Amino acid sequence: MPRLRVVRGPSLDDSVRVLTGVSDKTQARLARLGIATIRDLLLFFPRRHEDFSTITPIAFVRPGVKTTVRARIYEIGAHQTKYKRMALTEAILGDDSGRLRVVWFNQPWLANSLHEGDEIFVAGEADMNGGLVMKNPDHEKVSLRPQNVARLVPIYRETEGLTSKWLRPKIQALLPLADELEEFLPGELLTRRRLMTRAEAVRQVHYPSSAPLLDRARERLAFEEMFVLQVAAQLAKRARKARTAHTVPFDELAARGFVKALPFALTNAQRAAAWQILQDIARPQPMNRLLEGDVGSGKTVVAAMAMHHVARAGLQSVLLAPTEVLARQHADVVQSLLAPFQIDVGLLVGSTPATARKPMMASLMEGRLPVLVGTHALIEEDVQFRDLALSIVDEQHRFGVGQRLAVRQKSDRTPHFLSMTATPIPRTLGLTLFGDLDISLLTEMPPGRQPVKTGLVPPEKRANAYNFIRKEVTAGRQVFVICPLIQESDKLGVRSATAELEKLQGDVFPELASRIALLHGRLKPAEKEAVMAGFQRGEIAILVSTSVVEVGIDIPNATVMMIEGADRFGLAQLHQFRGRVGRGAAESWCFLFTDSEDPASMKRLQAVVTHRSGFDLAEIDLELRGWGDLAGYRQHGKDFKMASLLDAALISDAQAEAVRLLDRDPTLAGEPALRRQLSAYRQVFALD
Ligand code: ADP
Ligand code: MG
Repeated sequence: MPRLRVVRGPSLDDSVRVLTGVSDKTQARLARLGIATIRDLLLFFPRRHEDFSTITPIAFVRPGVKTTVRARIYEIGAHQTKYKRMALTEAILGDDSGRLRVVWFNQPWLANSLHEGDEIFVAGEADMNGGLVMKNPDHEKVSLRPQNVARLVPIYRETEGLTSKWLRPKIQALLPLADELEEFLPGELLTRRRLMTRAEAVRQVHYPSSAPLLDRARERLAFEEMFVLQVAAQLAKRARKARTAHTVPFDELAARGFVKALPFALTNAQRAAAWQILQDIARPQPMNRLLEGDVGSGKTVVAAMAMHHVARAGLQSVLLAPTEVLARQHADVVQSLLAPFQIDVGLLVGSTPATARKPMMASLMEGRLPVLVGTHALIEEDVQFRDLALSIVDEQHRFGVGQRLAVRQKSDRTPHFLSMTATPIPRTLGLTLFGDLDISLLTEMPPGRQPVKTGLVPPEKRANAYNFIRKEVTAGRQVFVICPLIQESDKLGVRSATAELEKLQGDVFPELASRIALLHGRLKPAEKEAVMAGFQRGEIAILVSTSVVEVGIDIPNATVMMIEGADRFGLAQLHQFRGRVGRGAAESWCFLFTDSEDPASMKRLQAVVTHRSGFDLAEIDLELRGWGDLAGYRQHGKDFKMASLLDAALISDAQAEAVRLLDRDPTLAGEPALRRQLSAYRQVFALD
């Protein structure tokens, strides 16, 4: 017999509109918190709790201490204050131990909802004001299920017009629905690790019965988040390992030959990374490796060494760059590194004319062109390789962590994959987001680099900085000037960079006007290329640019990096800019300008002045702004509610459990609920 429901309450997938008191306006406000459905609301966890669980007799109430009192109302009344005509509700409360005066401002309705004789909880701080007075306390009538006081009270993330106080009763009423949430952690794991069930954890995390139970609820919820992520990563790893890649035999003689032809000796870190990569690509399972090294640590040559190996094996590689400017530079560098070995390098970017493009595509398809350098956008289109063995992506985070290359080739082999980044990723974060990734670190800089002297230039010293720049240019050096995007409408920075150019040419360095040039997003590729070439040849002395030059550009003769509106950039980005200079033997400088007087901004900029290491700066950024901004990871969709990405123990536990489960049940055939939960991660890990 079908079960009859006496009262039809909301169900998890209903819109929040089914709740009483949720208007269009409220719905929009909830949407701002990411809440659309009843389920979202139920899973909207509090940020923290206020401990109002201890009830204090009135006689023990002390000024300045948050206290909860349980008392009866002796008197209550409302009146207006004389001076500001504010509505004032005043009550005298009493318990066995004494009396307490309570006042509420601007809540005249209280005098109607609270009555003499009611027993209430009030929670707040008392002041000495001709006797103890508690001002604007939270209050609630005594009941079996208190919401706002007399317990651990949830504090939610709020938005304008939507307070914790509003959310509390709404969420509390939904708690019975927690039983309908699917339990997706394997039963065996729940028992063995003694984790709270999902339903119980959701209830306890909102309205904990005690502090230890709150801890256990949090522990369970953090674990489930990290576990699902780790299962997804392990699945991706297993799927990858099951595919076949071209094997590129390790050839020690060839490797030595490549190193010998270099104009410098490799650092130990470069040597180790190259070794790891050459070992990886010699295996039939596709490599998935991140080459991580600070700006200027020399990642390109490591990549070129791998491409050299691939070409010698008669196979192809592709190197993708985030911008056209950078793709061109990579093509030049790689070409010069591979030229001694008669290995051809093709460059394919958006502006490559059809007449050049056609024959290049043909030789790619026929396998005659061993190395292609280009922008990412282009490769996705229609380029076909005959035997693509290695895909390398520079600064992949700019494309999105989950994005995989849509490169097609005639063979059904999966290419080995190498991504390169100068964005330092804390170790735990790497483990978390990239459970499926091996990491090579370039921890060492090429010898002879001098640290870039960095200074925050106050407005009154601006003229000095300009004089300094003039001296450097006279001595034959070159200068970058970076402009921030100031207006939303100026997305490509055309206006701000143009204004800066005019200022420098007209007012500051009129004698150098013809040697100052502009680089921004609106320029045609040919124009960009002409500007870059002029700068590379040294004809252009001062390059005014938007953040296009952020990554990669290598101009050893540039010694000054001047950054306008420095407060508008992230620390990692500023560090990247600074890395554009100090690439030659000469002493280099980075000048930061700002109009901001905001102490938080000044603190961040000061960090760039005092710290040289990108890793240190990344950690500081993490402290000051949270991990999400660190490298744009938040944009990839997975934000954690409970788990901390810096909790190494949690991560390794979750990873071990994921491995254990998949060893036992590789297809998760016995875990349908977990499989459903995983679908959310499909995009991030490209599971298919
Ligand atoms: P990044 O890691 O920032 O991509 P690059 O690959 O552009 O760094 O290298 C920066 C500069 O350092 C280049 O001019 C490169 O030729 C040079 N370089 C790389 N490795 C070494 C080395 N071992 N010794 C000296 N110079 C090096
Ligand atoms: Mg680089």
